[in-house]
Amino acid sequence: MGHLVSINPATGEELARYPAFDSQQIQTCIAQAHERFQSYRRIPFAQRSAWLKRVAGILEERKAEFGRLISLEMGKTLASAVAEVEKSAWVCRYYAEEAEGFLAERSMLLRNAYANASGAEHFASRSGIRYQPLGVILAVMPWNFPFWQVFRCAAPALMAGNTLLLKHASNVPQSALTLERIFQEAGFPPGVFQTLLITAAQVAEVVADERVRGAALTGSEAAGSSLARLAGQHLKKTVLELGGSDPFIVLPSADLETAVTTAVAARLINNGQSCIAAKRFILHRAIAEPFTAAMTERFRQLKVGDPLDPQTDVGPLATANILQEVDGQVQALVQAGAKVHVGGSPLGGNFYPPTILSEIPPDQPVAHQEVFGPVALLFTVPDVSAAIELANSTPFGLGASAWTTDPEEQERLLEELEAGSVFINGMVKSDPRLPFGGIKRSGYGRELGREGILEFVNVKTIWVK
Ligand code: NAP
Repeated sequence: MGHLVSINPATGEELARYPAFDSQQIQTCIAQAHERFQSYRRIPFAQRSAWLKRVAGILEERKAEFGRLISLEMGKTLASAVAEVEKSAWVCRYYAEEAEGFLAERSMLLRNAYANASGAEHFASRSGIRYQPLGVILAVMPWNFPFWQVFRCAAPALMAGNTLLLKHASNVPQSALTLERIFQEAGFPPGVFQTLLITAAQVAEVVADERVRGAALTGSEAAGSSLARLAGQHLKKTVLELGGSDPFIVLPSADLETAVTTAVAARLINNGQSCIAAKRFILHRAIAEPFTAAMTERFRQLKVGDPLDPQTDVGPLATANILQEVDGQVQALVQAGAKVHVGGSPLGGNFYPPTILSEIPPDQPVAHQEVFGPVALLFTVPDVSAAIELANSTPFGLGASAWTTDPEEQERLLEELEAGSVFINGMVKSDPRLPFGGIKRSGYGRELGREGILEFVNVKTIWVK
């Protein structure tokens, strides 16, 4: 069986190495999760909420320690890693407060009875909806937000009364084990949250197990499609949060200064490795030149380097493979005739410079792919219709940001952009209170908000006469 290896992407140093679980260890964890579910599902909301608030407290108290671990293991800047831990605490507090209300039994009295074939009236003295947990849920998670992605799945799942098995990305095993310890320290009973140190190939065994009732995956299209195939075979509910190639549309009435500042942040968040990073900048021709010049100037000024150094703006990419893939996409575009405004070639190690490309041939396949690094693709369009058409021309549909002060344009963009979320005059961001997810090849189902907690529950219709 393989190993899960933690490597500091800034230095290449191996930090830790763990053998992957064997089948017996996997079976023990599934059995424990399943057995614990029988008692955990009956624990009152108030107790689950107290444990989850304790998790939030631990995250807040030790955010510097956890932030450093995240930064060392996958390369994001220390400040952004600490912010990720704080946001993870927020989602725990949010569901700790709101879950009971979201899942409260709903009465639906059917006042207009209808007569059935025998003429008897068909109505209940009591009817409505009761929300119940499903059981053991598998969470397959990515390395790019090693804490946040897990908490936004785990907090609602555990508040609903499910138990959870985490299969984290293979390159962040230390984060994965730390997360398990945090839930234990907060007082959750053993078996409620367990980390499986397994490879992608071992996911099949877990999904196939009768005791596992659902699976959430955040990651690439390939991984999502593979999990969905397995889940289909075994008839399991899934939620998929996959890739994106989010558009960032700028129209003439926009506040250009704010749009440029936000564009830089939106492209470079997490060293450019975020599903909802703005990836394609679709600029109205009236503002394309000044926008490009200003964005290029900002990119030039950014410091690439050690993620633990507070002066650093952009750290390394998380693995050598990611860097190779990003550089391959950039070189393909350059060979096809794209113009490089800044950056455009690796800096050594896992470091890649903030890069801006324009004049991209529309038939170039990379123009429609996700570029998972600090690379902005710029496109120029004549009007809002062309902007929407280009924005919708990828197979993805995760988020979209558009900049205009014209109310009619705003309404059109809200209505016509094919995406799970549309932000006008703001950056696409996840927020525990708002549902988050995609359409098309960006996946299905939702996390966060009320919709997020309803994904892994039995919406049970109850009817009593
Ligand atoms: P990835 O390679 O797909 O890995 C994600 C997770 O899936 C890892 O735990 C990985 O395990 C596992 N996995 C990979 N192949 C699998 C398979 N065939 N069957 C079952 N599990 C499998 O993605 P990544 O490179 O870590 O993350 C980047 C991608 O995630 C990007 O496309 C990004 O847009 C997307 N993402 C989406 C969201 C969202 O909310 N929509 C959020 C963050 C990231 P191993 O590590 O062991 O291979």
